[in-house]
Amino acid sequence: MKIEIDLHTHTLASSHAYSTLYENLQEAKAKGLKGIAVTNHGPDMEDSPHFWHFNCIGAIPKSAYGITILKGIEANIINKNGEIDARPPFVKKLDFVIASYHPPVYASGTVKELEEAYLNALENPYVKIIGHLDRGPFEINYERVINKAKEKKIAVELNRHSLSLSEQYRGRVIKIAEICNRLKVPVTINSDAHFCSSVGDVGIVFDLLEETNFDETLILNSDINKTLEFLDVKE
Ligand SMILES: [Zn+2]
Ligand SMILES: [Zn+2]
Repeated sequence: MKIEIDLHTHTLASSHAYSTLYENLQEAKAKGLKGIAVTNHGPDMEDSPHFWHFNCIGAIPKSAYGITILKGIEANIINKNGEIDARPPFVKKLDFVIASYHPPVYASGTVKELEEAYLNALENPYVKIIGHLDRGPFEINYERVINKAKEKKIAVELNRHSLSLSEQYRGRVIKIAEICNRLKVPVTINSDAHFCSSVGDVGIVFDLLEETNFDETLILNSDINKTLEFLDVKE
């Protein structure tokens, strides 16, 4: 089992990532992927591209070198009301939004506040994927957040990069996968690549899912057509 499209990758436009879109596309091709999404950080993060990056994103073609390219953003949840920094007018130019929590943008004071922030962010109609739910200073009530994602038809991300960051995140990713499996919530397995060689490199997430008897039909991005349909993107 593998993914056909990696829905979370960064490029040089976020200054803490180190490869170009061209390099990411070449890597995707070499690994046999059919598509990637370019999802740089929303403009409220210090290292983000200027909002023109998103405003002019139509300059990127729908495909290049045989790889489908989706134009996205990894938006920051900026407060407990769940507001995100993917805003009009540019948000309308994107194929989809990942909403993620990054403490440098919003340092949530309590578990309750962080949970509320996620629940409120899931009300945003542009949000299609909740990013690395495992990260953050505390463990929240994942079941409550994932239930809401199910209700709003939002997919939950299982993030490869989290597994490299800490053992604690690894434990949380397993917990989140088990809840998604039990509640039958679609997931996307993404690299969150910050360098081209990481694009599509999600094998260790699949290894981890094997341990949990995960229902593979819930993995959206193992099928590009299923993914495009879910995100409502026309080719
Ligand atoms: Zn992130
Ligand atoms: Zn990211």
